[in-house]
Amino acid sequence: MSSNNRLRIAIQKSGRLSKDCQALLKQLGIKLNLREERLIAHSTNMPIDVLRVRDDDIPGLVMDGVCDLGIVGENVLVEAQAERAKGGQNAEVQKLSALDFGYCRLALAWPQELGPQTQNWFNGKRIATTYPQILKDYLRRANIDAKVVVLTGSVEVAPRAGLADAICDLVSTGATLEANGLMQGDTILESNACLIQNTNLSCPDKLALINKLLPRLKGVRQAKESKYIMLHAPKARLSEVCQLLPGTGQPTLLALAGNDDMVALHMVSSETLFWETMEELKTLGASSILVMPIEKMME
Ligand code: ATP
Ligand code: MG
Repeated sequence: MSSNNRLRIAIQKSGRLSKDCQALLKQLGIKLNLREERLIAHSTNMPIDVLRVRDDDIPGLVMDGVCDLGIVGENVLVEAQAERAKGGQNAEVQKLSALDFGYCRLALAWPQELGPQTQNWFNGKRIATTYPQILKDYLRRANIDAKVVVLTGSVEVAPRAGLADAICDLVSTGATLEANGLMQGDTILESNACLIQNTNLSCPDKLALINKLLPRLKGVRQAKESKYIMLHAPKARLSEVCQLLPGTGQPTLLALAGNDDMVALHMVSSETLFWETMEELKTLGASSILVMPIEKMME
């Protein structure tokens, strides 16, 4: 691959997604020399360059083909798509995978002292948000006639500052809303980080590299969700023990030196073992029960 054939991936430079993005690239086996001040980081073991930018720029960079892949919150992606479509620009990307980080929801909120409100209350009100297109789409569908006030930051202080009556902002735990005396209402979008690809990507080398990375991504996710379970079980209760174990895979049975009544059982489970199940296994005579994390998996 020549240097301009290097796969370009856009990630957030610094913010809520950047640590998880860097960890994911590492788990995929991409070695990077990420020096804080650098915009572009070159992989030392794969023909990959990582561009570190503001998250708002990621959808556009991928849609315009400046980058081949991008990792961005669905909230930012949906907003950018609506904004670009409105301006007649290309707004298409291929969503390759939802990722298991960056979870948040875009929700309405208003001052707590007003108490619970129905959708009707929003008519004639001013709602502050960083996501005007998503909010306007919601208001249109809910038939609410409200004024959208666009703010790029500190949305949660808008009601107190007299800039708006309510807000539409990202929430994960709800602590920020609570700290600002706001009550949470309808969720208008659920969001996760996602991996997106430029729709016109045709370079065979880049596509081959993406096809190599995607099974690794699946393996990382499966490994996170799976556990390796080991225990000693009485041969006489083996079927009862197996019935208690989560997952559908066949366990491996190994003889135990000097003990003909017990076997060692090993299995990969698609979920963890709860304490309750471990206690039930114990009452069946199982012992030495170990539940271990798995680092990588390939089926
Ligand atoms: P940038 O400087 O890159 O523009 P930002 O300030 O716009 O950063 P961050 O606050 O770092 O963005 O959030 C990045 C993304 O993290 C959000 O767009 C969203 O997808 C996700 N996210 C997860 N939880 C939250 C949360 N509680 N509040 C805000 N964003 C969250
Ligand atoms: Mg941003």
